[in-house]
Amino acid sequence: MTDTDGILVINAGSSSVKFALYGAGLALHMKGELESIGTAPRLSATKPDGTLLLQRAWVKDTGLHALLTETVDWIDAQPDTARLAAVGHRVGIGGLEHTGPEIVTPAILDKLKSLIPLVPLHQPRNLEPIELLAKSHPHLTQVACFDTAFHRTLPHVAQQYGLPADIAAAGAQRYGFHGLSYEYISGRLAELDPAAAQGKTIVAHLGSGASLCALKDGKSIATTMGFSPLSGLVMGTRPGDLDPGLMIWLLRERGMSIDQLEAMLYHDSGLKGVSGISNDIRDLLASAEPKAAEAIALFVYKIVTEIGALSAALGGLDTLVFTAGIGEHSADIRARICAGCAWLGLRLSPDANTRGDGVITAPDSRVTARVIPTNEELMVARHTASLTLPRRDD
Ligand code: ADP
Repeated sequence: MTDTDGILVINAGSSSVKFALYGAGLALHMKGELESIGTAPRLSATKPDGTLLLQRAWVKDTGLHALLTETVDWIDAQPDTARLAAVGHRVGIGGLEHTGPEIVTPAILDKLKSLIPLVPLHQPRNLEPIELLAKSHPHLTQVACFDTAFHRTLPHVAQQYGLPADIAAAGAQRYGFHGLSYEYISGRLAELDPAAAQGKTIVAHLGSGASLCALKDGKSIATTMGFSPLSGLVMGTRPGDLDPGLMIWLLRERGMSIDQLEAMLYHDSGLKGVSGISNDIRDLLASAEPKAAEAIALFVYKIVTEIGALSAALGGLDTLVFTAGIGEHSADIRARICAGCAWLGLRLSPDANTRGDGVITAPDSRVTARVIPTNEELMVARHTASLTLPRRDD
């Protein structure tokens, strides 16, 4: 491809496929989403200024193959956008050996499929568009960008569980997730405050999935998610860290099947399960129900105590970054977390926190807290460009 060709970024989730199209200089041309796949599929796409480019719907049982083919053909036919040359995909898990993105080959695809048992709900959905596009648009180079790759700088001790060596060798290790978001934030912090980026930083990616990452000199050295995206913080519908003895009790004494256990852990726990009201923190903040307050308190408590743990891994803390849906938009949750970090010398500036843009701590705060919007799609586009654009050695 040339540096004026288009790069399509695909982020495939459980019932939706989000996409973004980048042109020359990685300028964003459009963003869109294929939603309600399997029920009432519909597509919408907008320009960066929010202007609607397209809205369309399909009949219920239109398969992903037809939906993707038509969507990619429509994107490619846009008169004022670049010719599409490569597609970058966000892929949940790349295993321990992938420390960066890969151009998809049949061998890479087989390897990624072999990792499905590690993240059975996420990985197949990430791989399906790759397989479909390889058939429908074989001329497009496809690049897989892994959410685990950025964490391969974790020291061995931070990747290990206290399990027998043969089980660990079979894959029972801490992989970490949200790596594309952390990589983007690490780079952005280096642009915003180069000195801080060389220090000790914790990034709080608080979206519907949530995790923390400890960065030392811009590299991941500890993270709260491990073998799967279930562990660590309390999330929208996932519980975060649990005692493994509880799993044994649920399976043996409560007679839960493995499928029931999986559904409970991925879909019915976290803020939703504790509150019985909603997985969306906005609903809980607006509710007067004691259970809503209980869920919020648990969410904040776990973040604060894990910030303590990651500060220990870093040997101190200079910068705390908030990002993703809740981290970028909820001043209330940021204030509660920062109050729990007062012992670290963090002093919030309430006005700056309400603005929620840039530094949100007082000038005399020992730890600087910031809000930095994440951009996982741009990170995927950059990786895709770096693997597919010809190198310039001049
Ligand atoms: P995902 O994790 O699905 O990629 P996001 O990072 O966009 O998604 O985060 C989505 C979550 O962000 C929502 O579930 C919602 O709880 C939260 N959120 C979005 N906007 C706000 C807001 N203004 N205030 C509080 N929470 C918000």
